[in-house]
Amino acid sequence: SDPEPPEFESRKSVCPFCGVGCGIEHANGDTATGWEGSVNQRGEVCPKGVAAFEPVRHEKRLVRPLVRESGTHVVAPWEEALERIETGVREVVDEHGPESVAFFASSSCTNEENYLVQKIARALGTNNVDNCARLCHSSTVAAMVERFGAGAMTNTLEDVGEADAFLVCGANPAEQHPIAFQSYLSPAVDDDTTLIHVDPRENPTTAEADVHLPVTPGYDIPLLNAMAKVIVEEGLVDEAFLAERAEGREAFEAHLEDVDVEANAREAGVDPDDLRAAARAYGEADRAAAFTGMGMSQHHCGTDNVHALINLAVLTGNVGKPGTGINPLRGQNNVQGANDVGARPGDLPGYDPVTDADARERCAEVWGFEPPAEPGRTQVEWARSVGDDDGIRAAVVFGENPVVTEPNANEVADALADLEFLAVIDLFETETAELADVVLPGSSWAEKAGTVTNTDRRVQRMRPAADPPGEACRDLEILRRVGRRLTDHDLAFDYDGPADVFAELTEVTPIYGGMSYAEIGEGYQRWPFPPGADSGTDVLHGDAFASGDRRTELAPVDHVPPADDLADDQLVLTTGRVLQHFNSGALTRRSGTLMRLRGEDVVQLHPEDAEARGIEDGDEVRLSNERGGVTVTAEVTPAITRGTVFTTFHYAEPLINVLTGDALDPVAKIPEYKHSAVTVERV
Ligand code: SF4
Repeated sequence: SDPEPPEFESRKSVCPFCGVGCGIEHANGDTATGWEGSVNQRGEVCPKGVAAFEPVRHEKRLVRPLVRESGTHVVAPWEEALERIETGVREVVDEHGPESVAFFASSSCTNEENYLVQKIARALGTNNVDNCARLCHSSTVAAMVERFGAGAMTNTLEDVGEADAFLVCGANPAEQHPIAFQSYLSPAVDDDTTLIHVDPRENPTTAEADVHLPVTPGYDIPLLNAMAKVIVEEGLVDEAFLAERAEGREAFEAHLEDVDVEANAREAGVDPDDLRAAARAYGEADRAAAFTGMGMSQHHCGTDNVHALINLAVLTGNVGKPGTGINPLRGQNNVQGANDVGARPGDLPGYDPVTDADARERCAEVWGFEPPAEPGRTQVEWARSVGDDDGIRAAVVFGENPVVTEPNANEVADALADLEFLAVIDLFETETAELADVVLPGSSWAEKAGTVTNTDRRVQRMRPAADPPGEACRDLEILRRVGRRLTDHDLAFDYDGPADVFAELTEVTPIYGGMSYAEIGEGYQRWPFPPGADSGTDVLHGDAFASGDRRTELAPVDHVPPADDLADDQLVLTTGRVLQHFNSGALTRRSGTLMRLRGEDVVQLHPEDAEARGIEDGDEVRLSNERGGVTVTAEVTPAITRGTVFTTFHYAEPLINVLTGDALDPVAKIPEYKHSAVTVERV
C-alpha cells in the first residue's frame, strides 16, 4: 500500500514558483508561511506561496518508477528503470552518436541539479542541453549579453525603488511577481515614481500606472523607436553618458530620421499623445528603471525588441547606477540559475561559449573530460528534428512538461511519441511523462536541499522539510546515478550532497567563483562574485560594462512584422499568466486551494470584437487556426485591447499551445507565443 503522507518540518526554504525567491517554510496542515527572507523582508507570501505544500502531498504523486510495457506504464524496481535508461540511451548513442540525444534541464530545480544535467550531457559527448528559459527570456539574455556582457537584471530589487520613473514593458509584476511589486515597486509609485505600463491588457499592474500604452502584440519596436525619437527630438538624452559610454550615436539618430512618431504610435495601437507623455516621463526622470517580460521576449523579433528597449536606457544614461537599468523579471524560481550553471546548448557554466577553447579547458581540468566544442540544439529545435536522419532520437526530460508548454503542441506531442527512447524525471505522470518509456519519481521542492538563483542574481539555499514519499528519490541522487550509468566518467559523478556539487560548480563558473555554500546560510550571495572577492556586485555596469568594455553601441532596429498573417476576420491571440497558477500548471492544478480560486480558463475579448461575432460573456467559444483548435469560456471585457484575445497556458484542458506558432527568433530561437492568428466563433 502507498506510504503515509510525509510529516513536514518547518525549515527555511525558498518558494518553488516565481523568480522573486521569497523565503517560505511549513506552517500547519498543507500551508506555508513566509519567513523574513532576503526578498520578502517582512515574511509576506502570495497565494501560490501559501499553497506550495499542497501538490507535495497530492494523491497522484509518483512514488515508484514506471516503465512502459505493451503500451502502458507498469511499476518497476529502481535498478530495472535505471537499466532501461542506460540501455535506451546507449543504444542510440552507439548507433547514431551522442548528438542524437537531448537533455532537458529544469528551471524549477536547483543549481546543483541543473549543473549535473549539463555535465551528464557533456560527459556523454553532446551540448544538446537546454532549459525552459529558451521559451521565456532567451531573447532578453541574447540582447543584454551583446550590449552589456551580462544577461540578467542590471540592478537589484532593493535599489530600483530609487527610480523616478518605471517603464514596465510586456510584464505584469503586480500579478506575476507580486511580492516584489508590493515590496519594492508599489511603495515607490505611492511615493511619486511615475509608472508607465506597456501591455495590450489592463491588469493589476496597469491599475497603478500613470500612463498605459495598450500596444498591439508584435508592435513593440515601432512604439519604442517612437519613444527614442521623442527623447532625441526633445533633448532628453544624457549627453555626458553618450559621450563617455556609448558609440554609434550618429547612425542611430540617422535611423530615427525615418521614424514618424504619430504613424508609429498608430501602427502600435496607442495614442500618440500618451506615447509622447511616456517618452517624456522616462526621458526627464533623473533615474528611470525599465522592466521587461515575456510580452517583449516571446516574439520572433524578441531579441530586437529588447535591443530597442536598451536603446532608451543608453540614450538617457539609465545604466550603471541605482534606480535605473534593464531588469528582466524571471518567471521561475531558478530560471536564472539554470542558465548561470550551463544548462544551455551554446554556453558552459558562467556563459563562456562552448567554442571557447580556454573555457573548455577550464572545465576539463575539473571534470576530467573536455566538453564538446560544437553548440548543441535548442529546446524547440530538437523536438522539430525528431524523424530527421540526423535528428534527435532519445531524450531525458528533467522536471519539465514540454507537451503543454511548447508552441504548436500537437506537433510536439507527436515528436516526443516518435522518439526511440524517452525518459522523464518528475513528480507526476504529466502530459509529457505519459509518453515516456521510463518515468522516475523525483523530489519536490519541499524535499530537497541546494541553491537557487532569483531574478536579481541572489543565490539562496533551499532546505528539505520532508523525505520524498514512497520510493521517490532526491533529484540530485537520481542524477548522480544516471550520470554514472550513462557516461564513462564514474568519478565525475561521485558527490557527497549539494554542498559538494556547489563547491565544484564554483570552480568552473567564474561569476559564482567566490561564493560559499556555508556562508550563504539563511541569507544570500549575489553574482557576479568572482574568486577572491569579499562580496557580490549589486548594480552592474558602473564604471564599465560586464563585457569589460567601457562603451556599448546604440543599435538601430527595424520593425519585423509578426509571423502569422491575419485574415480579415481573425484576431490576435496572446497568452500569459494569472496570479493563481504557474506555467504548465503541473503543480498549481494539483492544489485544491488554487483550483478553487481559479479552476478553469477563460478567454478575454473586447466587447466590440464579441458583438461582431454574436458572443456574450460566459458563452463557449471556439479558437482555431491551421495548427489546432480549443473551446474555452468567453470573458467579454474592455480590459483587452480591441483585435486581441488573451488567455493563459496553465491548463492542459484546453491546451492553448496547440494554437501558438513556432516561428523562432533567429538569434535566441525563442518562439512567437505572443502573436498567433486565430478565428474566434461562438460554439
Ligand atoms: Fe512565491 Fe513568487 Fe509568490 Fe514570492 S511572489 S510567494 S516567490 S510565487
